Amino acid sequence: MVIAGLMGLLIGSFLNVCIVRLPADQSVVTPRSRCPKCDRPIEWSDNIPVLSWLWLRGKCRSCREPISPLYPLVELTVGLLWAGVVLRYGLGLEALEAALFGTLLLGIALTDARTYLIPNEFTWGGLVLGLVLAAASGFPAVTAALIGAAAGFLILWVVGVIGKWAFKEEAMGGGDIKMMAMVGAFVGWQGVLLTIFIGALAGTLIFLPLALLGRKKLVPFGVFLALGAAVTYLIGPAILDWYRRYMGGA
Ligand SMILES: [Zn+2]
Repeated sequence: MVIAGLMGLLIGSFLNVCIVRLPADQSVVTPRSRCPKCDRPIEWSDNIPVLSWLWLRGKCRSCREPISPLYPLVELTVGLLWAGVVLRYGLGLEALEAALFGTLLLGIALTDARTYLIPNEFTWGGLVLGLVLAAASGFPAVTAALIGAAAGFLILWVVGVIGKWAFKEEAMGGGDIKMMAMVGAFVGWQGVLLTIFIGALAGTLIFLPLALLGRKKLVPFGVFLALGAAVTYLIGPAILDWYRRYMGGA
């Protein structure tokens, strides 16, 4: 669990690089991390997850400009996530799948919130990851993942077409559509429906009041879909079970 947590910290550090560079179409491999203010390369000893930020008191070593606390927070979150999945699922494929899915969702939510973009590396890349992980658990899992991915893609694509026709403007970003294909590979077609339901509900509850207050702005729908997908992955089977019994008893 400790090793998984430490791995998570390093992956969280890499996720930070992805969140900043992928929407800008920059390489996540080269050049080395630089201070966004003074552009000086960051020494490896100043790039240790969470600890360096604390040690430097949240400031760049050369220009003393503040470094966003979002960086260590993302590292800590991913570290806790990777340790947490081992606690819940034990060491194995299930834990790896949960950790990767959670990391992808966090990356999507943060890039969408910052830039209204969802990079293909997270969506198409995540879709490939989801299918490969499903393939490792056998033929029925791959079939379920493929049906889930197709359902996610088609449903959001249709919603987008109808939205465009009804509102005469782009209602659904291409990133959201690709994202739901990825999510479908991890949660299956029923999980896709639940994810969209929870995402739309959360989006409405949070954005409708803002719109009514006149502070209407573009909705980063990917943030809410990511929230819906995480809830679905964690307790979706229990919710669907309850729903079936409810419908059966009604
Ligand atoms: Zn600096």
